[in-house]
Amino acid sequence: MDRSLRITGKRPGPELLVLGGVHGDEYEPIQAIRQLADRVDPAKLSGQLLLIPIANGPAFESHQRGGPDGLDLARTFPCSHAASQHARGTVTQRIAERLATRIAACDFLIDLHTGGRAMTIWPLTGYMLCKSPDVLDTQRRMARAFGLPLIWGTSPQLEGRSLSVARDAGKPAIYAEWGGGSGCDPAGVTAYVEGCLNVMSELNMYAARTLVATSQTMVEDPRDGSGHLQSNYPAPHAGFYQPAQPLGQIIQPGALLGTIWFNWDEPVTEVRATGGGLLILNRTLPAVRAGDALATILEIDQASSSSGDAPTPADPLSPPGTQS
Ligand SMILES: [Zn+2]
Repeated sequence: MDRSLRITGKRPGPELLVLGGVHGDEYEPIQAIRQLADRVDPAKLSGQLLLIPIANGPAFESHQRGGPDGLDLARTFPCSHAASQHARGTVTQRIAERLATRIAACDFLIDLHTGGRAMTIWPLTGYMLCKSPDVLDTQRRMARAFGLPLIWGTSPQLEGRSLSVARDAGKPAIYAEWGGGSGCDPAGVTAYVEGCLNVMSELNMYAARTLVATSQTMVEDPRDGSGHLQSNYPAPHAGFYQPAQPLGQIIQPGALLGTIWFNWDEPVTEVRATGGGLLILNRTLPAVRAGDALATILEIDQASSSSGDAPTPADPLSPPGTQS
């Protein structure tokens, strides 16, 4: 049972799969998919919309990012669907197997995320820099149309993701990140509903485009490991973390990213940037263990970025089209 809803349009066309709740503590995607179902008029739809708002039921029910077996669904998708043993595996592996079948059968995929309870993420749309020029071109069009301020093309070598399954099946796929925290921000929900409608319009599946982004920055980085949101700035020790910079800030090397303190008789630990770029992830849950991700800084190479200005630091989590 994955709580899926299929909306069939009046006219024939492709199938777009929209996933939410791959991580169980990310709430804007779930509500956005619910609202998207209410917004879409089948009379104006060409093709089919397959909506799965809570892809990872056991994680959602336990208020956790991952499943009760300790696995992260977004790292568990089978790398070779045909040869996978996941159908006889743990609960998360079985969910990954079922979803992989859905992904391989669709024509386009959008996978919606947030930073979850522990992180907040600058609004971005990402895709893998896959080898097929046609698939890559479609992914770029989908990402631009989605309308968030940052577009991030990353390594095609990332495995275990919904996007890995789509890559192996030759299906264009994007994912999105917007904010985070334990609540459900209506601005994020709106950004996601509008983003999905805009992509449907771009794919000629739906009549009207709703919003046009004012400014987008595109970064494409094919290096191995690019696209890992959790690989930068691990906490050097446990304690209480407080970020010092707002999301969307352009960071210079050496800048203070945040502080950790633990004992009265020990000095406060400063976490400083080792490189420069755009701050796209902040840890917002103050309690940290050693190794927890604290921040991600995205190198912005002006040669590889296009379509406009750097994002504005002010109010990073306002909906697209309202950036000041
Ligand atoms: Zn996620």
